[in-house]
Formats: sequence, structure tokens, C-alpha cells
Amino acid sequence: MKRLLLVEDEQIMAKNIAFFLTREGFQVDTAYDGEAALELFAVGQYDLVLLDWTLPKLDGLEVCKRIRRESQVPIMMLTAKGEIFDKVVGLEVGADDYLVKPFDQRELLARIHALLRRISAEHKGQAAEAWLQYEDLRLDREKLLLVCGEETAALTANEYKLLELMMKKPHNVFTREYLYEEVWGELPGYNDRTVDVTISRLRRKILQLCGKKYFQAVRGLGYRFGEKS
Ligand code: CA
Repeated sequence: MKRLLLVEDEQIMAKNIAFFLTREGFQVDTAYDGEAALELFAVGQYDLVLLDWTLPKLDGLEVCKRIRRESQVPIMMLTAKGEIFDKVVGLEVGADDYLVKPFDQRELLARIHALLRRISAEHKGQAAEAWLQYEDLRLDREKLLLVCGEETAALTANEYKLLELMMKKPHNVFTREYLYEEVWGELPGYNDRTVDVTISRLRRKILQLCGKKYFQAVRGLGYRFGEKS
């Protein structure tokens, strides 16, 4: 049984979502504010976190950041229509997906399954070979870590997926649309900033790790992974 942590301060909505997801076979723990969310997260083993954007005590952004310091658990942000929610900021702090309220419960369920499927596919892929290597950079597929010499950097699920895809075919040109579809799935409202933001985050991590610039923008097309030729 998959365990979900639901963080939502509107109690009626939280109870409705928890009721629905429990009926769909999930085990759901609910937190009504950001601090309670982190307390639960520290002791529970969760497969996925549903995280409201505006919360008392600590907001969703901060909760997301703090969870990401120690875990690669998939995080889906929930945000109310009209709330000041910057998707780019959400992805910057490591959220894997987001859903705008009010949403249909079936839509929520479909997105949860898609996210969990993606993660489990990644885990299966890991069984084949534990490492993916390019020059001095290694991708640890078991720990979702980037390794260069003695240095390591943690990756979010989406960063991992994107990097793995591109690292398998160095010097290949990938369009933003292709990357978006492969990593985020066929979500409505394609936004090419999503790919740009994730790549710039990866580029920064690799630069800090081994001083190399391994992502090249290809004008009018997309991106290439590998050293500049
Ligand atoms: Ca809220």
C-alpha cells in the first residue's frame, strides 16, 4: 500500500481528499500546517507528498525546500486558483508536479498514479546498471546522486529523469517538447520554462560539482548534453 502525506490547511478539503484517496487504496496521513508536515515527514516513510502552497506556520515552498534537503520523495504542489503561485519557483525548490485547485478528484488520482509510475520505472531502470558515466561525472542510479570525485549532489526526481535521458545519449540534441513529454508526461499547459529551469538547475549543480559546463543550448531547437565540441 502506498503511503501519502497530505498537507492542506483547509480541513474540509483535506478530509475530502483523504477520504477519496483512502477509498482508492492509499494510506493517507494529513497535516494541517507546515510544521506538522515536517514532523510527520520525519517519522513516516512516504511514497508521495501532496503539498498545499499557502499554509500556516511554514508555507508550502519552505516545506518543499526542507523535504528536498533530505529526500527525493515525489512532491506534488497544490495551489488555489488566483493564489500567487509561481510554477517556476515551485519547480526550482524541487516540486515534481503541481495541480491547480479546484481540481477534479479523478484528475488528482491520475496525476498521483502517473508520478508514482514514473518513479517506479526509474527504480526498475536502476537495476540494469548502478552507474551512468560521462567523462568525470557519474550518475548514481540507486541513490539519485551526481558524483564527481569525492563530491556529490542530490537530485530531484525530475532532475534525475532529465539528466539520465540526456546522459545516455551525449551530444544528441533534445527538443524542449520531447524532454517535457518524457519527464513530466503529457500534461496540459506545456510550459517550456519548466525544461529551461530544470536544465539551468542541473547545469549549476554540475558546475559546482566538477567545474564543467555540460549542458549546451542549441538555438531554436533545445539542448545537448556533453562537452562543447
Ligand atoms: Ca491553503
